[in-house]
Amino acid sequence: ASIFSAVPLAPRDPILGLTEAFNADPNPAKVNLGVGVYQDATGKLPLLECVRLAEQRLAENPKPRGYLPIDGLPGYVAAVRELVFGADSPVLRRTITVQALGGTGALKIGADFLRRTAPEATVLISNPSWENHEALFTRAGFSVGTYRYYDEQAKGVDFDGMIADLAAAPAGTVVVLHACCHNPTGYDLTADQWATVLDTVRAGGLVPFLDMAYQGFSESLEADGAVVRQFAESGIAMLVATSFSKSLSLYGERIGALSLVCADADEAARVLSQDKIVVRTNYSNPPTHGAQLATTVLTDPELRALWVDELGGMRDRIKAMRHRLVAGLEAAGITDMGFIATQVGMFSYSGLTKDQMVALREQHGVYGTDKGRICVAALNDNNVDYVCRAIAAVRG
Ligand code: PMP
Repeated sequence: ASIFSAVPLAPRDPILGLTEAFNADPNPAKVNLGVGVYQDATGKLPLLECVRLAEQRLAENPKPRGYLPIDGLPGYVAAVRELVFGADSPVLRRTITVQALGGTGALKIGADFLRRTAPEATVLISNPSWENHEALFTRAGFSVGTYRYYDEQAKGVDFDGMIADLAAAPAGTVVVLHACCHNPTGYDLTADQWATVLDTVRAGGLVPFLDMAYQGFSESLEADGAVVRQFAESGIAMLVATSFSKSLSLYGERIGALSLVCADADEAARVLSQDKIVVRTNYSNPPTHGAQLATTVLTDPELRALWVDELGGMRDRIKAMRHRLVAGLEAAGITDMGFIATQVGMFSYSGLTKDQMVALREQHGVYGTDKGRICVAALNDNNVDYVCRAIAAVRG
């Protein structure tokens, strides 16, 4: 028998399974609200103009493709640090940053590093959270628990529950926090609530791991980045996973970064040396192209301004679709889903039940997750009214 003969078949990825079912659906009016990808007003994945221009510049001045340093393209790392912490931040001298394969790669480098550094620690993620958080930290060897987050009745955050769970966690517990645009619920904390979370994390000696996959999708790059800066400047040790998959629409380039804020510069140097071993033993060094694109956009004033503009366009379009969805639902007689307009980011926890989500798929070709998560960024003028009617129909 083959050494693989006893390998069990793993369960399918639930989101990929949805997409497969969507692709196989003959319904011409079908709408895929399952995947977490921003689509433009015509339903297409955009190539941002700032990225197109950056690509053009790189093509006009082609360079040989040597290996990058283990921790990534130096100009890219510098640009990310400026974006995340601020150009003159005093935090930078005790912070290290490594280029990573998207936000997921950043989380994984951080998880592998933490597992070696703090093998006894457990990891807490929000309930619910991005489905890969649990799998990623479990695979890295951690036992993963949850803190309360979503309050189904109140259609918001169970903040008292969240704080109670964080306060009860033993010192050294790693707490994964969504820095903005919580996936899947669309509910973020207020500035006051973040300050309380920071106090609780500090008092309890917890280790925050801020996941920043949607910087710029809630209010602005600066406003959305404020929480990360506040945590970093408070003086605690922490990790930040940055992703440009959504903000630069560079999903397939796998471009992100992991930053670790340490106690001092000496500690930071030691941490960097260990993170480089994690990278070296996994994929040796990161790829060039996405880093060059991101660096060109972030550091060229003209392209950066264009990016801020285009990012604002994506954010505003999603917000407009939230309002269209609420208005369309009201027109169809559904008056209790106005909370969708108060949520932020690409997703909405719609409050629809599993049975209603199944009926949406089977009877109307509208695909979202069984938990009721829909991607508002996949709505547009051509499909939003159909989706409203379909939701109204399954709500009965
Ligand atoms: N964290 C969260 C909360 C996400 O929603 C995502 C993307 N869906 C990621 C991380 C990973 O993003 P990337 O594609 O950059 O790996």
